[in-house]
Amino acid sequence: MLNIVFLGPPGAGKGTQAKIVCEKLGIPQISTGDMLRSAIANQTETGLKAKTFMDAGQLVPDEVVIALVKERLAMDDCKKGYILDGFPRTVEQAEALQTFAKLDAVVDLDVADEVLVKRLSGRRVCPLCGAPYHVDRLNGEKSCKVDGTPLIQRDDDKPETVLSRLEVYHKKTAPLIDFYKNAGLLHSIGGDLTLEEISAEILKVLEASK
Ligand code: ADP
Repeated sequence: MLNIVFLGPPGAGKGTQAKIVCEKLGIPQISTGDMLRSAIANQTETGLKAKTFMDAGQLVPDEVVIALVKERLAMDDCKKGYILDGFPRTVEQAEALQTFAKLDAVVDLDVADEVLVKRLSGRRVCPLCGAPYHVDRLNGEKSCKVDGTPLIQRDDDKPETVLSRLEVYHKKTAPLIDFYKNAGLLHSIGGDLTLEEISAEILKVLEASK
């Protein structure tokens, strides 16, 4: 059983890697971004609280996401381990997490800001299955390869919002690198590797954390 956190700036590939690794290990991927987007789509109370913050590229208030994650980790499928993708994002969230979860490893994906801006502003996603794409590799294709749904640009991937998300990351989330280094849990992986190389590195690190 491994309880894992994926840390890293927006656009570092946390979601992509979390999906690959979760499938390999047979554990759930818990993405607060996906949970919040689905809460918005379903117009739940949480969704209504989260929407304005997300559209502006700001963090949703700690108490909202903490409650969401606490409830999710209490579900049966998390007993065999999980990957938290996008949580915690503040020291307050990390401190709250300590009270209801025991982590085995924190994987930090380290990517330079210039690369992130390019990736995020060119990102397109399938609104149905969440599959991510980049305009540079789509060759004009406008639909999802998996289910044919027309791809969209997330509201928070618009250029103005991308910059505020990076600013928020540096101010609020980057301090978690030291937080988890001090806890002896941190494993940093450089972002100048290919997708496959990063997955392989992550699996190696996790194997050693068992
Ligand atoms: P990315 O990692 O590309 O920024 P996410 O899907 O993880 O995308 O998050 C999108 C947005 O959802 C964030 O900008 C933020 O508004 C909100 N969000 C997700 N996770 C959290 C969290 N742990 N705390 C606060 N807000 C969050």
